[in-house]
Amino acid sequence: MLGSSPQDETIKLVSRITEDGVLDTEEVYELAEFLNENEQAALVWPGDVLHEALSTVFEDGVLSDEEMAALGQLIQDIEKEAAEAELPTVWDDAPMTNKPPAIDIVELTIPTVANAEKKSGTDDQGEAFTLDVGDLTCSCADWISKRADLPARSGGRLCRHLTAELNRIKESLPEMNAPLSWLLGERTQRGKGTHAVEYYNLLMTDDGTSLVSFGSSNWAHVLVPIEEAVYERYGYDFAEGRWSYGRHPVGFGPVRQYVQQLQTDA
Ligand SMILES: [Zn+2]
Repeated sequence: MLGSSPQDETIKLVSRITEDGVLDTEEVYELAEFLNENEQAALVWPGDVLHEALSTVFEDGVLSDEEMAALGQLIQDIEKEAAEAELPTVWDDAPMTNKPPAIDIVELTIPTVANAEKKSGTDDQGEAFTLDVGDLTCSCADWISKRADLPARSGGRLCRHLTAELNRIKESLPEMNAPLSWLLGERTQRGKGTHAVEYYNLLMTDDGTSLVSFGSSNWAHVLVPIEEAVYERYGYDFAEGRWSYGRHPVGFGPVRQYVQQLQTDA
């Protein structure tokens, strides 16, 4: 059953596009436009995969036959995977128990920047902004509407301007950690801010350090380390009580248990 989460919207659009078995340029533009306008949808599978593929395709401003064929294949694969994921998820490698998971949990705090100065500019979307990377404030509409009330050093405070600025200076910040560093780079590359929620927790397990963000949103975002300094993002849908289309981190039992537990506690 498809609900109305950002992810479901992407899947619905993909199904509509594949209905006639032909992918045309208009449909490609429609998909790109949808993902540009729906940040949440572009963050989780399959929006993240599509968004990345489309960004590469549009880099040179030309949509070649080869690129159309590759996109068509990608979209078909996604539809197939989504159909399979409608089957219930089997928790084969992480039995649920009543024991608390073996995790050290530390709240992520955005490192402080010494001697920060206000910085003004106009971004590539034409929006003027004045940011202060010291107290994590910005004058942009996104910051004022979604982030101003979040805790002072929360990861959720970072609009795309603060994200880009912190990413620029991150090497100089002694309190920087690997998941945050990856997140800043990835968000900056996409021209986006962070998930605008209250809580950002670092989970230390035998599998390394993962980052989970959640709060007043139907979604938890989960970053798990897959290689040295490389992370992968997963989504957990609280409204539907399941991982996004059955796509959950492989391994990372305690992390998954923690995220699923958040729903019970809510
Ligand atoms: Zn901003």
